[in-house]
Parts: sequence; C-alpha cells; structure tokens
Amino acid sequence: MAEIKILIEGYAREKSGVWYASPATVLINDNGLNILVDPGANKKLLLEALEKEGLKPENIDIVFLTHYHLDHILNIRLFPDKDIYDGNTINSDDKIVEYSGNIPNTNVQVIPTPGHAHEHCSLLVGTKKGKIVIAGDVFWWKDDETQKTDKESLMKHKDPYVKDKEALTESRKKLLEIADYIIPGHGKMFKIEK
Ligand SMILES: [Zn+2]
Ligand SMILES: [Zn+2]
Repeated sequence: MAEIKILIEGYAREKSGVWYASPATVLINDNGLNILVDPGANKKLLLEALEKEGLKPENIDIVFLTHYHLDHILNIRLFPDKDIYDGNTINSDDKIVEYSGNIPNTNVQVIPTPGHAHEHCSLLVGTKKGKIVIAGDVFWWKDDETQKTDKESLMKHKDPYVKDKEALTESRKKLLEIADYIIPGHGKMFKIEK
C-alpha cells in the first residue's frame, strides 16, 4: 500500500493587497517511487520538509502537478532534471509522452477534475487509513475562512477563480463519492462523512 505524507499544509492569505499562497505539497511513496505532488511556491518550507524526511530534491522520482497555477508550480525550479507529470502527459525537456489512468508503474489513480482550471486533475491514493484524494483546488479555502466540511457546504463553497462552474460541481461530486479523506489545495485535510 502507498504511504502518503503532507509535507506542507496549503495556505492562502492576503496582507496589504499582496497574496501569499502555496498549496498542499504531498509526498507519496508507492512501489518504491517518491512522487511529489504540487511542489508549490515556498522554496524554504519545501527544502526543510524534504530534509525532515531525509530526502533531497534528487531523491524525488516524479513531480506531479494538479494544474498550472503558478503558486502550485514555481518550485519545479528545484527539480531541473526530473520528469514533470500532469494529468495526462510526462514531460522531459521537450519530450512529451501521453499516458492515462494511473501514474505509470504505480497504483496512484489520476482523476480528471476540471472546473477550477480546465486541465485540473486529482489523485486517488489507497492507504492503510483509507482512500485519500489529493484534490488540488477542487476544494480550497483562504486562511481566514471557516472550513465547513459537511457535503452541502463543500458543494456550495465559492471558488472566486473558477473557470467552469458546472464542471467544478461535477468534479466535487465525483471526489466526495470516492474519497474517505480529502487533502484540499489550501486548508486542512478533512474526512468525508458517509
Ligand atoms: Zn489553482
Ligand atoms: Zn491553489
């Protein structure tokens, strides 16, 4: 079974008209591979968190991006020689290889979840604790918002940056059906009440 660890809890706060934001950065270890999901934008926090795990950037095998918002991406600069995965392509320099279903050679399932961004994908990871979904910005909160996690509030929660509201609603519904726990893009992990 895969092991999963939240290296950095996602945050998003505004101070004097400037935003400070970095998403949940998650480390998955499956089938001997270290998969880093959404390396985020806080270089210092990421290097410290990796060090705590006894890891250096070169020990990461796969960098996966849920979508193309820069706060989720900037730290790919720390992994210049690694393959970068999105929901359906593997990018090594100028080489682009398509894939579908699981991240190759792992049990980690890629789930298309458009709405917040058209290319958005989430990951479903089977763990001892249950099915954990890394949901990126399908669900996210500003630091000063109360995180209400009953199903109705989750479905209604406003995303000021939504690109396609109908698609986002469908994506949320899909994730709530399959997940035992959800790691949001910004905010705390929460349990889905069945
Ligand atoms: Zn986003
Ligand atoms: Zn975000």
